[in-house]
Amino acid sequence: MDLVVASLQLEDGSFQGDQYGEIDSRFVFTAIQTLSLLDRLSLINTDKTVEWILRCKNFDGGFGLVPGAESHAAQIFVCVGTLSILNKLDLLSAEEKDTTCWWLAERQTKSGGLNGRPEKLPDVCYSWWVLSALAIFKRLDWIDGDKLRAFILAAQNEDDGGIADREGDEADVFHTIFGIAGLSLLGYEDLELIDPTYCLPAKMIPRIKNFNKSY
Ligand SMILES: [Zn+2]
Repeated sequence: MDLVVASLQLEDGSFQGDQYGEIDSRFVFTAIQTLSLLDRLSLINTDKTVEWILRCKNFDGGFGLVPGAESHAAQIFVCVGTLSILNKLDLLSAEEKDTTCWWLAERQTKSGGLNGRPEKLPDVCYSWWVLSALAIFKRLDWIDGDKLRAFILAAQNEDDGGIADREGDEADVFHTIFGIAGLSLLGYEDLELIDPTYCLPAKMIPRIKNFNKSY
């Protein structure tokens, strides 16, 4: 599996999702996270990947699908997460981090929920895409956590326990995991702490770091 993932890296440092050639910063994060967990980052050119990720950064502080593409909260998570795994967050200045976090904090709507781009509806899954990068930069207090928590809990189905994209909609697995992950980052009582870079239980991460010397 490690060789398959490594073989998807392109000359410019990005990754295609498969042999058909679609390129997207989400594929880059997925490849880097996979190779990190397998301790096989040495199979690829990580410097080139870092260069490519930095090219996805926009003047407004956000990151896009590919260089020059519109800023989107999910892309901020995958790009910042990639830099975090590769231990290259210091390539962003304090001012750049502030601008990124300002853009993320602007995602909170009146309802308390977060959206992915300006003028879009709030959606529980952005509780992960937005909060993860704010947590990596230690600026979780830039949004109103109590209001977001209430928004997530209102989207929970009282009968089956699952969480929907927003109150009144049908619950699904995707929004349930990102709702719970968001609540964990907000410090919700009795929830396992989640690691904002890997989206895995934080207690697993020291083991990964220990195992993977390049982290
Ligand atoms: Zn969603």
